[in-house]
Amino acid sequence: MGRLFNFPGGIHLEEHKSVSNGTAVRKSGIPARLFVPLDQHIGPAAECIVSKGEKVLKGQTIGSATEYISAPVHAPTSGTVIDIQKFPAAHASALPSDVVIIEPDGKDEWQTRTPLNNYRDIDPSELRNIVRGAGIVGLGGAAFPTFVKLNPVGHDIKALILNGAECEPWITCDDMLMRTRHGDIIEGARVMRHALQAARVIIAIEDNKPQAISALKPYADKYEWLTVQEIPTRYPTGGEKQLIRILTGQDVPSHGLPLDLDLVVQNVATAAAVHHAINEMQPLISRIITVTGPGVKSPCNIEALIGTPMSDLIDMAGGYTRDADRLIMGGPMMGITLKTDVTPVIKATNCLLVQTPDAKRDATTTRACIRCGECVKVCPMRLLPQQLYWYSRSRNFDQLQRHHLFDCIECGCCAEVCPSHIPLVQYYRFGKSEIWKKEQETLKADRARMRTEARLEREERIKAERKARHARAKAAKAAGSDSKQTEIKAAVARAKARKAEQKSATEDA
Ligand code: SF4
Ligand code: SF4
Repeated sequence: MGRLFNFPGGIHLEEHKSVSNGTAVRKSGIPARLFVPLDQHIGPAAECIVSKGEKVLKGQTIGSATEYISAPVHAPTSGTVIDIQKFPAAHASALPSDVVIIEPDGKDEWQTRTPLNNYRDIDPSELRNIVRGAGIVGLGGAAFPTFVKLNPVGHDIKALILNGAECEPWITCDDMLMRTRHGDIIEGARVMRHALQAARVIIAIEDNKPQAISALKPYADKYEWLTVQEIPTRYPTGGEKQLIRILTGQDVPSHGLPLDLDLVVQNVATAAAVHHAINEMQPLISRIITVTGPGVKSPCNIEALIGTPMSDLIDMAGGYTRDADRLIMGGPMMGITLKTDVTPVIKATNCLLVQTPDAKRDATTTRACIRCGECVKVCPMRLLPQQLYWYSRSRNFDQLQRHHLFDCIECGCCAEVCPSHIPLVQYYRFGKSEIWKKEQETLKADRARMRTEARLEREERIKAERKARHARAKAAKAAGSDSKQTEIKAAVARAKARKAEQKSATEDA
């Protein structure tokens, strides 16, 4: 591959990868109970299709996708469904969501699987359906249903970019996957290339992962369509738009998608999951999770079943340290703080980071904005973070949209450099959710208005039809009485004529 490009802003963060990537990936085993949420992805939650008391097999679908942008969920092991109930979700709000609780039977018995002989004999649309049925979503943390991104309607895909940047400073699950299961990533890349009919595949890896680069480079010698590209380590290189900018020099348009540039970006772990789905008929029931931070005793990477309580993984990592303060799902920059560790692992759980007290995040240390402009310098989306902050604070939603709030990727660079310790991203999330809420309300009001208009129109039409029917009946009645009159007149005339004839006959006689 040729020249690399630069993206605006960004920051160099202190690295903590060696804390967790020094030991082999461990397997968590089967927990006493699995709590499998039906809502683990972008789009509406899956619909539960099992009932309490039902026996399930490993890999069996227990929740089916209800809409196009949604994903099914599967039983991570065999056992019995002992309940379907609300449980704290892996979300900042910790609002409860529906989970299927499975008591494992210890047999770990798979449902019947019939792997494909050769994915190349299969039509891309059929491949997409298998990926869809396997419940695969973006494993970089976004959890967007993968099959949708494998359907490039009307586009000739120039390149499939596999994102191995992993730019958050504590996370190492993709690094470990690339080092140890590189063959799975390549197989997944081959399948996705076929599904997309993509000309090339580029695997992009930050240069702080030399072992991962060495593990994957040999494949680039084997396949002429494959490039393994080392990229500079700078946060947020792993952002889809920043990665595209680095590799191609092109900018994804505002409100646009990589597809607008005939490109598709998928995470390396997603590629491995696609390989398992297509070549082994294995749905997405487990993933590698980095359990790390100064708040756990033995940071490591663990392969865990979806639905495993997070507390089990913390125990596997030696438990909490004395000064453990905050549990974050994801990295320190873009992750979400969780209120409890009873929450189960979901498909989007790439990292459990346990932090110790941090002055920067202490609300008491927040000061007023001094308009220093530091946040502007580091914004990779060329936004004006301090303006977005002011407009969010004053609930000026029109100005927020005019200042492209929705281009903000919530990377947190601005908050990281802010000398006033303002939690800027929280303000942007607030602004976005308020605008979405307003849009939903407008949509609801529009739908209600349209329904009312349609009802009035229908009533008017029925009224008009009724009136027309009456008019027709009246006309018919009037026409009927006219013809009766005519008949009477004719009969009178006929009678008169007959009388006249009789009279003239009498006179003749
Ligand atoms: S970095 Fe913080 S203090 Fe400086 S302008 Fe931005 S928001 Fe204001
Ligand atoms: S969080 Fe948003 S506003 Fe702040 S630097 Fe990132 S993209 Fe820019």
